[in-house]
Amino acid sequence: MAFDYDVVIIGSGPAGFSCAMQSSKFDKKVLIVEADEDNLGGAWLNKGTVPSKALREAAKLIQRFHAQFGDEKGRKPYERFRMEDLMDYKKPVLENKNKKVKDDIIKNEVDTARGYGRIIDKNSIEVIDQLNNKTVYTAENILISTGSSPKPPKGFDIDHQRVLDYSSILDVTHIPRRLVIVGGGIIATEYATIFASLGTRVTILNEGDEILPFLDEEIKTALFNSLKKRNIRIFKNSKILEVARNDLRTCEEVSFTADGEDRTQVVETEHVLYIGGKTANTKNIGLENVGIETDKNGYIEVDNEYKTSAPGIYAAGDVIGYPALASASFLQGRMASCSMFGSVQDQSSNEIPYGIYSLPEISGIGLTEKDAIDKDLDVTVGRAYYHNTTQADLNHQTEGILKLVFQTESLKLLGVHIYGDHATDLIHLGQSIMANNGTIKYFIERVLNYPTYSEAYKIAAFNGLNRVHKSGVKYKKILDES
Ligand SMILES: Cc1cc2nc3c(=O)[nH]c(=O)nc-3n(C[C@H](O)[C@H](O)[C@H](O)COP(=O)(O)OP(=O)(O)OC[C@H]3O[C@@H](n4cnc5c(N)ncnc54)[C@H](O)[C@@H]3O)c2cc1C
Repeated sequence: MAFDYDVVIIGSGPAGFSCAMQSSKFDKKVLIVEADEDNLGGAWLNKGTVPSKALREAAKLIQRFHAQFGDEKGRKPYERFRMEDLMDYKKPVLENKNKKVKDDIIKNEVDTARGYGRIIDKNSIEVIDQLNNKTVYTAENILISTGSSPKPPKGFDIDHQRVLDYSSILDVTHIPRRLVIVGGGIIATEYATIFASLGTRVTILNEGDEILPFLDEEIKTALFNSLKKRNIRIFKNSKILEVARNDLRTCEEVSFTADGEDRTQVVETEHVLYIGGKTANTKNIGLENVGIETDKNGYIEVDNEYKTSAPGIYAAGDVIGYPALASASFLQGRMASCSMFGSVQDQSSNEIPYGIYSLPEISGIGLTEKDAIDKDLDVTVGRAYYHNTTQADLNHQTEGILKLVFQTESLKLLGVHIYGDHATDLIHLGQSIMANNGTIKYFIERVLNYPTYSEAYKIAAFNGLNRVHKSGVKYKKILDES
């Protein structure tokens, strides 16, 4: 039977986009269905990854400038810079990225249909446009890459004026003097440090027990020290009772309990930024018509080739849950295409790094020291502090630590954890060594460009090696023996 397309992709975020690009390289006929009338690219380009990182880069510039040159009148960054300055930085970035995505789609001869996609049967998708016109397309394969949406908060509403979510914060018109962030995950931490660097007084009300519990303990301590230094207050186990307007004091009042106490506390703020959990966009997309079930959180289960339980139907990106990152969604969409069109990919050693774009940033891959100890592995740790690297001195970015976790006997690298400038880029050197089953000797034996932050790998490797062989033993002997 002839179909209209080899693959119809529902959703144009990173998962859908990369599946389209790869399928086009396989010379397949591709249609992307996108519900957003104005933009392609999903949360990646329009609400999440790129806009938040553009604001962050602008805030980082301001922070560095302010820290270096100060202000002769003693003003805070928010008194010298306007939100428009940050928006002016973000706007061309988004315009360029949007144009690039559109150009790539045209160049690769991928068709697009604007409207809401719904699966009718295993080879048919109905698209309903803004005027309620319905068009049905047939396809040999379908990719569901509809992404996720923010979960609504309990106990208060988001009005997008005073109480914002990750999408409306992008349109805020001035830099708030005070900001309450409800949440304790990656995005909450990122926005807390972005605004604190602009001089905003930030309070985090974390509904959970701990912020970023998966971090290596030393990295977490470094982060917490830095949050404290920036006057960011954190309350754990918080329960928001009310968000109410105080017209007399022209502010919002957030009433909450925290830390297991019954006592109600109140914090005044200009805005509340709610960054709660996410929920998969799996409602009303016709999953019931093809017998695909979701787990209790609404996510679609897939196998390691991104196949759902329905033949010919694949899913990738946030809609399948963890890790719900643009970085992973790009790979998943491509892998789904490879699986559809018979190009089996090697998935071994594909450990996923995480990147937290706080100021300074955090990144990690592999085992933490605690993970390794819990697994009864004999490991040693090597540390490098940023203030010992020349590049950090040159950049005046001396706050940070790079930590290597490696097998004591073989020196095989098992994990890398970094807190500091450029951590999210720096992690990839460790990732390549780990993917090739390498040891920390790599960092000692190779010439690395100097000055660079990569010097931290060399310092940490020497530090670790020194620890294995007890300090004082000559390195030549150590290297000959290991
Ligand atoms: C504030 C924020 C910051 C982030 N920062 C980072 C970061 O720094 N690094 C990182 O790796 N990740 C980051 N992420 C996560 C990243 O944005 C997501 O993981 C990624 O966008 C998910 O890609 P996706 O393709 O699954 O879905 P999405 O990007 O969400 O795209 C889904 C698309 O499907 C469309 N759609 C939905 N339903 C239908 C339908 N029925 N018919 C047609 N179209 C439909 C939507 O309109 C949307 O365009 C961030 C997220 C947020 C919110």
